[in-house]
Amino acid sequence: MDSDVIIIGGGPAGLTAAVYAARAGKSVIIFEGNKLGGTLAKLKKIVNFPGSISDDGKQIAERMANQALAFGAKVEYEFVRSVHKNGDGFTVYTDTREFSCKYVIYCGGMERSKPKTERKFTGSGISYCAVCDGNFFKGKTVAVIGDGESAERDVEYLLPLCAKVYHVFTEKAAVGAEPLKGKVDEFLGDAVLTGISVGGRTVAVDGAFIAMGGVATGLISGLETKDGLIVNSEGRTNIPNFFVAGDACAGSIRQVVSACFEGARAAYYCK
Ligand SMILES: Cc1cc2nc3c(=O)[nH]c(=O)nc-3n(C[C@H](O)[C@H](O)[C@H](O)COP(=O)(O)OP(=O)(O)OC[C@H]3O[C@@H](n4cnc5c(N)ncnc54)[C@H](O)[C@@H]3O)c2cc1C
Repeated sequence: MDSDVIIIGGGPAGLTAAVYAARAGKSVIIFEGNKLGGTLAKLKKIVNFPGSISDDGKQIAERMANQALAFGAKVEYEFVRSVHKNGDGFTVYTDTREFSCKYVIYCGGMERSKPKTERKFTGSGISYCAVCDGNFFKGKTVAVIGDGESAERDVEYLLPLCAKVYHVFTEKAAVGAEPLKGKVDEFLGDAVLTGISVGGRTVAVDGAFIAMGGVATGLISGLETKDGLIVNSEGRTNIPNFFVAGDACAGSIRQVVSACFEGARAAYYCK
């Protein structure tokens, strides 16, 4: 075996999994296709990570990465292309090499779906995370855009916070929101979002939350998914010894703090 545990993705879930697995005496390799820190490292300001009322995501990510390395985790800066079950363990393939391990923890995050018409308002009225940014729109009028469980959860989260919540949907309107059936034709405003146009109707909004779900690949065949994300029970997937943590988990609240928890939990079960 090249290592006990292979962690795919070096964001907050992967880095925390690495700390916990390494401290449990396991040899650990993290595969990261871009930069350690994942989405966290791109956040200029994070206000809900415990310990600081406002922090630079990059700095927290650097501390997490240094901690994982200090406990002995190794890093390979390569994309993992696929994983194959191999007897009791796994073979992990990059473009040029292959590695064997006993446990895999998939922490590759998720690819967020975006509306075609969204161009310029991300961070200026458009958000992809109601739990992260809903509080900035306290008492204001917002729209949640999307169908399914993600949108329903966002509506539910925003209703007690905001003065008014529209739900732009194509299939089923979420309970409690003012329904706007159709797709967003246009996001309106100059520097910041001021409104949306849906099926010819224009409404004024201070913010819009895109809740169109996303996709996590998992990279191994036979993995059970729901709405594009990996089905799990406390981090365990339907494939024995193949774990998932962070945004890739179906049912995750998709926060840095939950990614850390889910990473720690998956590492704990690698035994
Ligand atoms: C705009 C925005 C704002 C946010 N604001 C907040 C906030 O204020 N507070 C908060 O708590 N959360 C916030 N979040 C959510 C938070 O960033 C995520 O929940 C968290 O980063 C998820 O961690 P993760 O480790 O699961 O995935 P990610 O952070 O997405 O990391 C996944 C990593 O895996 C790597 N990877 C993927 N596939 C492969 C592969 N095949 N091989 C090798 N490497 C791979 C990627 O390069 C990436 O580095 C925000 C998210 C967004 C998009």
